[in-house]
Amino acid sequence: MSTEFLSTLSNLIGARHVLQAPLDIEPFCVDLRQRYLGQPLAVALPGTRAEVAELVRLARQFHVPLVPQGGNTSTCGAATPDGSGRALVVGLRRLDRTIEVDAANNSMTLEAGVTLARAQQIAESADRLFPLSLASEGSCQIGGNLATNAGGLAVLRYGTMRELTLGLEVVLPDGRVLNQLSGLRKDTSGLDLKQLFIGSEGQLGLITAATLKLFARPRARATALVGVADAHTAIDWLGALRERFADRLTAFEIMSADCLALLRDYQGDKVPFIAPWTLLIELSDSDGQAALEEALVEWLSARDMEDGVIAQSESERLALWQLREDMSETQKRRGPSIKHDIGVPSSAIPRFLDEAGQALRTAFPGCSIMAFGHAGDGNLHYNVSFTRPGNVDLFDDEAEVNRIVYDIVYRLNGTLAAEHGVGQLKTHWLEAYKDPLALSLMRSLKTLLDPDNLMNPGKWLAP
Ligand SMILES: Cc1cc2nc3c(=O)[nH]c(=O)nc-3n(C[C@H](O)[C@H](O)[C@H](O)COP(=O)(O)OP(=O)(O)OC[C@H]3O[C@@H](n4cnc5c(N)ncnc54)[C@H](O)[C@@H]3O)c2cc1C
Repeated sequence: MSTEFLSTLSNLIGARHVLQAPLDIEPFCVDLRQRYLGQPLAVALPGTRAEVAELVRLARQFHVPLVPQGGNTSTCGAATPDGSGRALVVGLRRLDRTIEVDAANNSMTLEAGVTLARAQQIAESADRLFPLSLASEGSCQIGGNLATNAGGLAVLRYGTMRELTLGLEVVLPDGRVLNQLSGLRKDTSGLDLKQLFIGSEGQLGLITAATLKLFARPRARATALVGVADAHTAIDWLGALRERFADRLTAFEIMSADCLALLRDYQGDKVPFIAPWTLLIELSDSDGQAALEEALVEWLSARDMEDGVIAQSESERLALWQLREDMSETQKRRGPSIKHDIGVPSSAIPRFLDEAGQALRTAFPGCSIMAFGHAGDGNLHYNVSFTRPGNVDLFDDEAEVNRIVYDIVYRLNGTLAAEHGVGQLKTHWLEAYKDPLALSLMRSLKTLLDPDNLMNPGKWLAP
């Protein structure tokens, strides 16, 4: 039966777009962090929306599960197939066309396989900004960004993919095409169906195109790296900066002293100082470079700070951002850690840091905690590591570490997945912490749209 399926599929999209040789399919079988290794039946690379729709109908007829895959940069195994050898991975990279750029409407419509870096370039060519920015932007795709409701470095000012999307085109699990591509900013004619698919991690349908918001390109930027005495001060500053600069506050990142010390081990003097907490603050505006810099200097000079640097040129600005962007990679070089991508209301960050730090140090004396992230959005990367006597694997204690962290996160009305999604990694934690009614409603929608559970099965909507 699978032979008949594969030969019909080959006739449909072309045999060279149906990968079956072990070496060809290898990159699609494993997630980026190499925690999950799957074994698909094959990998299909359809080239048009019509081919995607035909493929989905065929898969339904043969009862073949489908695993949509974009750039495969998921950090939670969301795009990795199971080991049964039954699922077809559907790679979207050949759907990489620009459908329309409507600069006057500040919108662009792209196919789902366009990489994020290219989407940014397409916007720039029209003298506009597409503001989503992630360290994985060279590989991740618009479809993957939508399916994970990606955030990143500019969420504080521009929002996540949910806020950045005007319209969507989706091939439903039965092969019908839901065309909601539209540049409308206002529409009161019913439910906003596109939001169902944003953040659904490929479990409700295959996204084939999207209409995205564009913005004026910022012509002025003022960027500072500033040390403060504690996390309470950091969050007070966030409120005060918002009050003073409103939307011009574009980024507000935070890094602990341990993070900076680790960076200094690898980068030496490129790390200008180490303070209890370090903030990367960026303002942007459509013009007025000198005035913006002056306003930031004036604001900072009226405050108590441990240390600080203001970028004097574009290269200095990029160097400050590089420190922030190097955090994850540098930690990886130091060794494994139990990673969290949590979110709490930004006002609760100091309490989260106090309570989680105390609880973890009591349970795991001497543990190292690397806390950094998008404090302006309440989203922290909170990575814990320690060595145990007798060569015990760090991950033997992962469940206990997670329980401590997530108990506090949910007491503070937070989330266990603020930007990296749930995938396979956090499914059982979602069961434990998500509001049961909310989860059950989500699963009813899954059953409605995908009664045969063929769309990315084994993930959190249908584990
Ligand atoms: C170094 C690094 C930095 C990162 N930084 C951030 C960050 O700052 N913010 C952030 O949000 N994430 C971040 N991520 C996580 C990841 O890059 C994002 O989740 C990204 O949006 C995934 O896109 P992708 O194309 O690689 O999707 P994939 O990893 O291929 O897939 C992710 C999920 O989307 C589904 N999917 C993919 N394409 C489609 C489609 N066309 N239709 C339906 N479902 C689809 C898959 O089935 C899967 O469930 C980072 C990852 C790395 C490695």
